[in-house]
Amino acid sequence: MALEGAGDPSLLLGKGDVPPIHEDNAAGRSPFLLTSDHYGRLIPRVLGDLGLAADELTRHIAWDVGIAGVADALSKQLDAHLIAQRYSRLVIDCNRPPDAPSSIPRLSEATTISGNAGLAGEAAAARRREIFEPYHRRITEVIDRRLRDGVPTVLVSLHSFTPVYAGVARPWHIGTLYHRDTRLPPLLLKLLRAEADLLAGDNEPYAVSDDTDYTIPVHGEARGLMNSGIEIRQDLIADQAGQQQWADRLARIFGEIETALRAQRLI
Ligand SMILES: [Zn+2]
Repeated sequence: MALEGAGDPSLLLGKGDVPPIHEDNAAGRSPFLLTSDHYGRLIPRVLGDLGLAADELTRHIAWDVGIAGVADALSKQLDAHLIAQRYSRLVIDCNRPPDAPSSIPRLSEATTISGNAGLAGEAAAARRREIFEPYHRRITEVIDRRLRDGVPTVLVSLHSFTPVYAGVARPWHIGTLYHRDTRLPPLLLKLLRAEADLLAGDNEPYAVSDDTDYTIPVHGEARGLMNSGIEIRQDLIADQAGQQQWADRLARIFGEIETALRAQRLI
């Protein structure tokens, strides 16, 4: 059960909780900066289980199933800096504007999150202050440093999607997600569509917008970086073998993209 309110609602992470940010390859030499907003499914101890059954806390409503393994392996293969967030999107969604109703969801797909009902302002502020803000502050710091040092930077936001949402099957294996960048997404889509065995979605299963996304609009578009989101279907990366295969494939494709961007003097 949810325990919030038992202690000081202005505090969230305690002694038994890990920091929200997971990083790998901070000194990586790749132009690609990888982010993963829905990497983990931890819940701060003070929140208990948010009122949910254990099987709800391992499915897609809690995190992007499989993406952590892909992100870790891709970061290594590309020698790319990865910045990821370890807490569940049910605690606070790090890819939503903090004032959006879905930032701290009370309903996800058909599941009511009772631990998020009637949340006091202070408790919601603690989730922003202790999870959302440090994660995004770190991404900002890293981009600031890279721009200051003249390091080429292309933002790639890694996600995964459930194969069936609200009863509707999604056929794509992978999708590019973008809004304002006209340079990286078409190149990425062209290379994904050149893979004979893939059905690649163009802004499918959904598109990026300022209302429903945070990382791409704020860290990619507002900073003038080339950027794209990637969404991989979760059944393809449910186990370690699938995660490794997709990391291998994406590392090869991003290698080709880097060559193309350098040839065009875009990085
Ligand atoms: Zn996601």
